[in-house]
Amino acid sequence: MNRIVVVGASAAGLTTAETLRRRGWNGELTLIGDESRPPYDRPPLSKQILTGTWEPDRATLRTLRDLDRLKADLRLGQRAQALDVPGRQVRLEGGERIGFDALVVATGVAPRRLPDSDLAGVHVLRTLDDALALRAALLAGPRVVVVGAGFLGTEVAAAARAMGLEVTVVEPEPVPVRRPFGDRVGEFVADLHRDHGTRLRCGVGVRGLHGAGGRVTEVELGDGTTLPADAVVLALGSTPATGWMSGSGLRLRDGVECDALCEAAPGVYAVGDVASWYNPHFGTRMRLEHRMSATEQAVAVAGNLLGDATPYAPVPYFWTDQYDTRIQAYGIFPPDAEMRIAYGEPSDGHFAAAYGHHGRVVGVLGWNAPRQVRMLRRLVVDRAPWATFAAMPALSPAIVN
Ligand SMILES: Cc1cc2nc3c(=O)[nH]c(=O)nc-3n(C[C@H](O)[C@H](O)[C@H](O)COP(=O)(O)OP(=O)(O)OC[C@H]3O[C@@H](n4cnc5c(N)ncnc54)[C@H](O)[C@@H]3O)c2cc1C
Repeated sequence: MNRIVVVGASAAGLTTAETLRRRGWNGELTLIGDESRPPYDRPPLSKQILTGTWEPDRATLRTLRDLDRLKADLRLGQRAQALDVPGRQVRLEGGERIGFDALVVATGVAPRRLPDSDLAGVHVLRTLDDALALRAALLAGPRVVVVGAGFLGTEVAAAARAMGLEVTVVEPEPVPVRRPFGDRVGEFVADLHRDHGTRLRCGVGVRGLHGAGGRVTEVELGDGTTLPADAVVLALGSTPATGWMSGSGLRLRDGVECDALCEAAPGVYAVGDVASWYNPHFGTRMRLEHRMSATEQAVAVAGNLLGDATPYAPVPYFWTDQYDTRIQAYGIFPPDAEMRIAYGEPSDGHFAAAYGHHGRVVGVLGWNAPRQVRMLRRLVVDRAPWATFAAMPALSPAIVN
């Protein structure tokens, strides 16, 4: 193997390249990314960058000087446009072809939009430029409507409220974050937002955005009501950035479909938000949009490129910060899982919960309970029987502290 090409120069692509070097791989390495900035971290975009508690530079993962040490052919600001798997080539926008012996796809996801998303005042949040544009808009004191109450939408709402703005969140599900965590935790998140003065319109979708003079003025809901808006943030989820690989022969249903080694075709791997792979720990295919997973999977993929042949079988980890609350979650949270409070009291703003599915503990969630949830994580790693866990009295603070 002479040349490894990594497409996507953010958390997952960068970590893959760095791990290859750290593990002693001295061959040619090409890192291609369509953003012209050096790689930066995305979680602060909806938190510290939006509220202005961090200067934008603080989100930078590596400076250009750090990247020099990679001794890589670094192609920032260049977009991969097509992939020829049998011919072992990536074609860049502009026509240049780059050959590879092994390829790592790390192109992440792109935000979903609505038909009238091009009105001024309508925002999405994926890049640092998106965050800076949204922050500038929020500084003008607009009435904000956030469309979508997943993690991104609820974090943006919290940041906008912290700036003292009038905020309404619209969500077709009956409660926020219902898909990842179910109705009960969704209710707790709804209460958290109401307590901080965020208005919630749950159980109703958005019919359309309206504007005047090319600028958004209101959001029309499915029940015919309208919400006046000077700034609209679309937080509707994302789609894997796989368009550039269409016609390549790779399976691209929900991301790049890989096996347990994160390999999609011989010598072609995928990593990070774009990768859909078979996780043997849970016996299911998954695609995660979690920062920690981007790093861990990249380390695993770099190892597999170098011959480790180790299935990637993590217990996924995710966190979100909203107001004064940090929610942390390990594992998976199927919609039909049973949930049990394992520690603390939701009404005290401090608890941990476990989720059981098919007779096993599959997920644990902490709400301002970092130590407790870290301890409970073991149950997911061990696939502890749910019956045993469910028969235990709620863990007392004496046990978990
Ligand atoms: C605002 C925000 C807040 C978040 N908060 C949290 C959080 O609190 N907790 C958490 O666990 N996770 C969070 N995440 C998710 C986390 O940031 C992602 O899981 C992580 O960034 C994934 O890294 P990645 O490298 O796979 O993808 P990305 O970071 O999306 O990087 C993909 C890169 O590939 C580039 N690219 C795409 N197509 C091409 C192409 N054709 N050619 C060249 N380059 C291309 C993209 O421009 C991008 O630079 C958040 C994400 C966002 C956007």
